[in-house]
Amino acid sequence: MLGEVLVLNASFEPLNIVPVRRAVVLLLKEKAEVVEAAQRRIHSGNGLALDWPLVIRLVYFVKIPAQFPLPLNRRTVMARDQYTCQYCGIQPSKAGLTLDHIVPRARGGKSDWKNVVSACIPCNQRKGGHTPQEAGMSLLSRPDRPRYAAVVLLGRVQGPTVWRKYIPH
Ligand SMILES: [Zn+2]
Repeated sequence: MLGEVLVLNASFEPLNIVPVRRAVVLLLKEKAEVVEAAQRRIHSGNGLALDWPLVIRLVYFVKIPAQFPLPLNRRTVMARDQYTCQYCGIQPSKAGLTLDHIVPRARGGKSDWKNVVSACIPCNQRKGGHTPQEAGMSLLSRPDRPRYAAVVLLGRVQGPTVWRKYIPH
């Protein structure tokens, strides 16, 4: 994962994940500054060596529309939930994780960010066609539309440990 760099907005909100070469270009053009670096050097190709960036921050604020397009699908929901069953908290393999409609579709539950969560197969089966309340189950958190598109779209919350400080959950 050393090959990728977390890009923060000037406000320190996570914006994107880019290849290290792209980050170096932003740094050399002084469009960004290093926030976190690894204990090694990277050579820029024109004789310059700099600390290997892990997290950089844009010098200028980039305005993001409040309602950026964010498709709801298996990958984005699971990335939002960090591949964790929202009922029991386990992190099975991706194949062992399903999407659950909190209010079942058959009972009018919508396919939206507030009604779809990741669930392991045993929890999904136990819940069946019931609401969590009926099944005596509770959610670990209240699901909602993610605030940070980049992280969810890329589905890579699992970057270097140092990223986690900058990616609120
Ligand atoms: Zn579970």
